[in-house]
Amino acid sequence: MPLFKSRIKEALVRRREQGLSRQLKVLENSNGPLLRSEGSDFINFSSNDYLGLANDPELVDAWQTGLSQYGAGSAASPLVSGFSPAHLNLEAQLCEWLGFDRAILFSSGFSANQALLFSLLEKDDFLLQDKLNHASLMEAGMLSPATMKRFKHNDTQHLESLLNRTPQSLVVTEGVFSMDGDQAPLSQISKLTNRYDSWLVIDDAHGIGVLGEKGAGSCNVAQITPDILVVTFGKAFGLSGAAILCSAELGDYLTQFARHHVYSTAMPPSQAVALSYACQMIQTQEWRREKLFELGATYSEQMSGVEGFIETQPPIKPFVVGEAKTALSIAEELKRHQVWVTAIRPPTVPVGTARLRITLTARHTQKQVLQLTSSLHQAIERNIESSFESKIDTNNRA
Ligand SMILES: *Cc1c(COP(=O)(O)O)cnc(C)c1O
Repeated sequence: MPLFKSRIKEALVRRREQGLSRQLKVLENSNGPLLRSEGSDFINFSSNDYLGLANDPELVDAWQTGLSQYGAGSAASPLVSGFSPAHLNLEAQLCEWLGFDRAILFSSGFSANQALLFSLLEKDDFLLQDKLNHASLMEAGMLSPATMKRFKHNDTQHLESLLNRTPQSLVVTEGVFSMDGDQAPLSQISKLTNRYDSWLVIDDAHGIGVLGEKGAGSCNVAQITPDILVVTFGKAFGLSGAAILCSAELGDYLTQFARHHVYSTAMPPSQAVALSYACQMIQTQEWRREKLFELGATYSEQMSGVEGFIETQPPIKPFVVGEAKTALSIAEELKRHQVWVTAIRPPTVPVGTARLRITLTARHTQKQVLQLTSSLHQAIERNIESSFESKIDTNNRA
């Protein structure tokens, strides 16, 4: 197939030339505070396991209990025969906790978002999305038959001007934005969607478990109930999968028409058992959220005033450096200090806003956060010096 071969080769060369090639890296213990790479330990500030549940012995036990009770796989899609008491129980728990009538389970947040937008939207519909929404939402919107418009990030005036032209739209935003750690103005957005007879979808992948009373998320903080709430289990739950929370009627509709639900094998029942257990841990173990906010305060104290620092409430701490190369070189320098932080580059974030995406988890210690901040100070300083030197160098040559 020469066509596909040459296409693949060209795309890979282009990626490399742009310096944007990415590689899979084998890491050990990466679901804990100390990850291991090529024989060395690093303090891990790059996981989304905000509450530190991903390797919690209690949760591991719960999954093992589920395995003994239900065996390994679900053996079918939910409508055929893959829906067990464990799945039903998880759905019921989510509904009670978050205040909805129905919850529909999916194997990932990516598929939940696709299933939702594909099954709900038709040709003459309008879909309005925050410009910084997650790739799964953007891609689903572009592939859907609806007309998609993006409103400026967290800009309710811009959103209103769009709603004014196209009332009865589907408005989609995140509660907490994954690359910026900032929060959407949900109560204002909710007022707007009500005023313009529109529906509001909130993807709270990064807010659920972390924010709000008993970890009920961004909507609890804003005191609103959206028409549709998407929660994912790969972040604060420490597991994987997702749920769409909604009315009984929409739940029935999704059960019939959400293709990623109908035609995909149900998650293993043992995983549903573990997720139910994580649900309980999230609601009852308040200390995890308290710890996160204490660590966040230490980070802010140490970094505020430094160019690139951004104050956030959630445990996502972006440190914006601008150029992709700078982000990479600071991340490399941090590794020499045994600190593991991910450099986030375009196309994941806009050109010129490459950053370090630092995430805190409830399993970090104050000491580890202090090691992060002192290493970061040093790495930034070295980087400023070396870019200064290379400038002198160029000047001398000229
Ligand atoms: C991570 C994430 C998803 C995707 O969820 P997965 O379960 O990892 O597929 C969807 N939306 C947002 C906002 C996310 O951050």
